[in-house]
Amino acid sequence: MSNSYTGTEALVLGALDSKISIATGVPGYPITKIMEQLMDSTIESRWSVNEKVALEAALGASTIGRRAVVIVKHVGMNILADPLITSATHTIGAGVVIIAGDDPGVKMSQNEQDSRYFGLLAEVPVFDPDTPDAAYECMRLSYALSEKVSTPVIIRITDRLNTSNWDVKRTVSSSSDFPVFDRSIWSYSLKGKHQRFHLQSYPLMLELSTTYKMNILHKRSSTTGIISSGYPSTLVEKVISDRFRDVSHLSLTMINPLPVELISSFIKQHSQVLIIEETEPVIEQQVSCSGVLGKHTGHVGYGKVETNDIIWALEHIDQKKTNHMQSPETLTGRGYSRGTCEDCPYHVLYSALKKLSVPIAGDLGCSIRTAPPPMEIADTAYSLGSSIATATGFDNKGVALVGDFGLVHTGLQGLIEAVFHKKDVLVIVLLNSISALTGGQQVPDITCLVQCLVPGTIILDMEKINEDELFIVLLSELDKKGVSVILARGQCTKHNS
Ligand code: SF4
Repeated sequence: MSNSYTGTEALVLGALDSKISIATGVPGYPITKIMEQLMDSTIESRWSVNEKVALEAALGASTIGRRAVVIVKHVGMNILADPLITSATHTIGAGVVIIAGDDPGVKMSQNEQDSRYFGLLAEVPVFDPDTPDAAYECMRLSYALSEKVSTPVIIRITDRLNTSNWDVKRTVSSSSDFPVFDRSIWSYSLKGKHQRFHLQSYPLMLELSTTYKMNILHKRSSTTGIISSGYPSTLVEKVISDRFRDVSHLSLTMINPLPVELISSFIKQHSQVLIIEETEPVIEQQVSCSGVLGKHTGHVGYGKVETNDIIWALEHIDQKKTNHMQSPETLTGRGYSRGTCEDCPYHVLYSALKKLSVPIAGDLGCSIRTAPPPMEIADTAYSLGSSIATATGFDNKGVALVGDFGLVHTGLQGLIEAVFHKKDVLVIVLLNSISALTGGQQVPDITCLVQCLVPGTIILDMEKINEDELFIVLLSELDKKGVSVILARGQCTKHNS
C-alpha cells in the first residue's frame, strides 16, 4: 500500500509498523510533532525530564524485549551521549532507534551542530534519509539492524525532510517477539566488550553499508560527480536534472559506517568530486583527498544547503580552492530578534535585574531572549540548565536565571553543587510550570525539593509585586552569604491565554 506522507508522518508510521512499545524524548525544534503524533497512538509515550533519562528508559525497555524510539533535537544528543556511547559495547536487547533532529540554519536552537558525528563517536549506525520514503525505510530497517548489531541506531533528520511530501510504501512487521538483553556479555572484561564489538557488531554494520540499496549511484559522466546525504540529496538531483545533466551522483542514506569501497570507486571514476552535506563536513573529512571538493576547499558553506549553493559550487568546480563562505550573520541582517513577549509576566523581574551591577548567568529557556540588545540582561547562556553552575564560577555573588524546565532538565545538579560547596549565588527560577520555548509542555513541580535544598527559598508572585519591591528583595538576597533561591511564579501568556 502506497500513500503520500510527510517526513514526520513517515517516521511515526515507520516506528508504529516496527511494533515499538515505547517512545521517550525531549521537546524541541524540529522533532516535537513526531512525538505529538506518537502520543495520539496507543503506545506508551512520554516527554522525559532530559535526553539522558529518555535514552536510559528506552534502554531499559530494550533489555526486556520492548522496541523503543527516542526523539530528541541535536543538542539533546550531547546530553544522552554518555549512555549512548556505553550502550554500543554493553549491548542491548530489542531495537532502539534515536531520531536526532538537526537545525541547519539555526532557526530555533542554540547552535548548528551535526548529530551524525555521534555515530562516529559512539560507533553506532547512522542513517541520513533524503525523503519521507527513505525515512520510513530507515525506521523499518533500523530496528532489525539495531537487534542484529546490538546497539542503538541514529536517524538524523531535518525540518525540510519533516515537511516534505512523498509516496511511502508501508510494510508492517509481522512479529512482536523481539530479543531481550543477553547477560552473557558480563563474562567479558570492559576491554573484551569493545573487542567483541569490533569482531562481531562492526563488521555487520560495514557489510550492510556496503550492500545497502538506499545508497544510490547515478553514473552519468566521468568528469564531475557529487556525493551527498540527507535532504540536500533531493536538491542535488533537482540541480542535475535542471542544468547539469552529465553530473554523476552518489546519494548516501547510511553514513556510518560509510560504504568506503563504493565511495572510493566513485572518486576514482571522476576527475572531480563535490561533497554536499548539512551541516558539517562529516563525510568530507572521512574521504578527503586530491580532487575532492567541498567545505574545506571553499566550494560549499557550512550549515544549511540551498539549491543556489550547489549551482555556485558546480560553476566553480574547475577551481581547486575558492570561497563560498559568508560573513557572520548579525541579528539585524537576519531581520529579527527573538525578544521576550510584550505581555510576559517576567518583565517586572527583568526591569529590576537590569538595575543590578552583578554578572547574570542566563539559561536556554526564555531567559536567553534577554541577552541580546535591547534588553542586555543575561550575560551568558551556555546550555539548558547551565546557569546555576555557571554562576558558581563567579568571584562574587551573582545571579543565575533559570526556567523551571531548565532546572528539572539538568540545573538541579548545579544547585546541589552550589549548596554542597557553600557557593554565593542568587538563583531565580522562572516558575511557570511549562517549557515555554518548546510549545508549553508541562514541567514537574519540584518546589518542595528546592525548599529542602535551600530552606530559605522565597516564593514571589510576579503579578503581586512591583519593580521597586522586587529590586529591594534582589539587593537583600545578594547581600547574604551562600545560596539564595527565589521562585518567581508567573503565568506564561503565550501558552496559557
Ligand atoms: S513564551 Fe511565555 S515565558 Fe516566554 S517570554 Fe513569552 S510570555 Fe514570557
